[in-house]
Order: sequence, then C-alpha cells, then structure tokens
Amino acid sequence: MKFMPDNSAEKASILLIYTGGTIGMKVDPADMALKPFDFGQILAEVPELGKFAYRIDSWTFERAIDSSDVEPSLWQSLARLIEEKYDKYDGFVILHGTDTMAFSASALSFMLEGLTKPVIFTGSQLPIGMARTDGKENLISSVEIAAAKQDDGHAVVPEVCICFDNMLMRGNRTTKANSDNFRAFISENCPPLAEAGIHIKYNTGNIIRPENPDGHVRAATKLDTRVSILKIHPGITPRVVRNILCGEETRAVILETYGSGNAPSAKWFLDIVREAAGMGKILLNVTQCLAGTVDMDRYATGKMLKDAGVIGGYDSTTESALAKLFYLMGKYADNDSVKRMLDIDLRGEISK
Ligand code: ASP
Repeated sequence: MKFMPDNSAEKASILLIYTGGTIGMKVDPADMALKPFDFGQILAEVPELGKFAYRIDSWTFERAIDSSDVEPSLWQSLARLIEEKYDKYDGFVILHGTDTMAFSASALSFMLEGLTKPVIFTGSQLPIGMARTDGKENLISSVEIAAAKQDDGHAVVPEVCICFDNMLMRGNRTTKANSDNFRAFISENCPPLAEAGIHIKYNTGNIIRPENPDGHVRAATKLDTRVSILKIHPGITPRVVRNILCGEETRAVILETYGSGNAPSAKWFLDIVREAAGMGKILLNVTQCLAGTVDMDRYATGKMLKDAGVIGGYDSTTESALAKLFYLMGKYADNDSVKRMLDIDLRGEISK
C-alpha cells in the first residue's frame, strides 16, 4: 500500500526525542574524536523537515550520550516521557546511537503496553553535518512514517520500529550487523514493515494492529536486569559455564547456542545446566545464527538441553530475548510465570 506524504491534509504532530549518537556528533578538534553537540544544530542541519506540514517539537535529555553508555534507566525515561506526552503527539521519533539501538528498540517494544502510535528509532553512520551523511534521509523518512495515518485517523505503523537506510523494521527483530555500511541493521527473521523509495510502501499485512486502537499507552518501567548471556564456543571451560549459569546474581541466563539450538553434549556441560535449572534459574535458548529458529527437538545435542530444563527462544534475537526477560522479570516475581510468558509472542518478537 502507498501513502502520500501528509503535507496537504490534516497536520500531524511529532515529538523528536534526542538521546545522542553519531547523528548528533561532531569532531572535537582537541582529540579528533566524535562527541555529541547541541541538538538545536541538528534541526538547523535538516531544513527539509520544514517542508512537511507537521508540527515537530523536540526533546533533549540533559546529556546526549554515545549509545554505548545506554542503561535501562534511559529506557525507563523514554517510556515515561512517551506515556506523559502521548495525547499531544501522533508519533515519536527517537534519535539514538546505532550501537545499542536494537536493545533500546526491543526494550521499548515491551515496556510500551497498549501502544497505538508509531515510535521510530533512527540514527546514522555518518554525523549529520557531513556531506554524505545518511542522517538526513533516515530522519526525514522516520518523521514521515511517524506521521502517517490511515483514512480512519489511526496510525499506519503503531509499533516500535527502527528506520534505517530506507527500511522500516520491527524494533524487536533487529540486530546491528554492520559497523561501516549505511545498511547497519538487519531483521532476518521478519520482513520489513515498510520500504522507502519514491513512495513509502507499507507492508500492511505485517504490521501489528493494537487491540484497542484508541487506548492510552502504559509505561511498564519495572525491570529486573539480573540476566547474563553465555555464548557457547568450542573450548569453553566448566569454570566459565558454572560462573555464568550458577552465579548468585543471575535470575536468568540466555544461552546463545549453535544452529538450531545445539550445545556440547559433554557430561560436565549438561551437569552444570541441570545444576542451574535445579537452582531455579530461567535458562533461555537463542541461536547464534542471524536467521532461523531454535528447535531443540531437531538434534540430540539440542534435545539434551531441553531435557535439562532449557526453554526454547524460537527465532528471537539476543537483544529481544534480553529485553523480554528484563520486562517479564520486572512484572512477575515467580519464575514459572516468566517462563510461561516467554513462550508467548507478545509484540511480534518471535514467530510461532
Ligand atoms: N557509538 C555511536 C553510538 O552508538 C555509534 C552510532 O551512533 O552509530 O552512539
């Protein structure tokens, strides 16, 4: 389906939220490193935004950050801000560094319960002041998508997304896969929700519609971050595995396994997995592969994990699995409820 830019019809209002990242950085002559600059300069750099008949307000957090410094507290602030400003705007665009954008977009997708409006994350690989920057295109497309409405006035894309290099992707399906190219993000297990060419073409069949399109968003800001990630690799040692799986600080561990959810069949490895399961840890299996799904029934090495108490994460990204665990563990004090909810597709994050 094609939607024309909404610059003749009813005005839309957008809140542009700046958190930091390359899009708003410039070279500091003192050490030649990229550092964040004043957000006001970004709008001055993109006069094209003025051609839309939209009201675009901006919001800057006190300190613009490189997204390597993102903490869950930023997600809580973003969720609260969107909840507070929800009635005033038709859509939200969040400027964010690319390094952890997939984590933040995943987190917000779970935390914004009952979302009915677009929340579009974007950023750039080159700072906006540079001649070949990708920041302008990314920002302009994001604003247009955040403002797009259906004939009945409801948002075309009422989801948390990442818009990058002409692709609109469901946020909790994305991974940063390239540190150099303009195509920084991939969404291998979920087709794009839109593609921007001459027109923005929306894949409406893939876009999730809210149960109550006129409802108000609720920010679920209670997060439990006691999660570790164990990436399986040849040569991994019992001590490393035990430290991560049975550590006192962890309530859940994401096992990044091979292929369709396989791990070593060595007795010591399975004994530690059983020990962790016996301690009540939530053990979630996601694949190291960029595409495809976990199916622990396919190989004996996967079956052993399942029998030892590991739960399958379907085709979830690691970023999304982490965010879903933070969110569910913040909501439920008992691990059985968390495990039950992990198996449910809450925001289009897994294919079942
Ligand atoms: N280090 C930067 C950040 O994530 C990279 C970027 O913005 O692309 O904030």
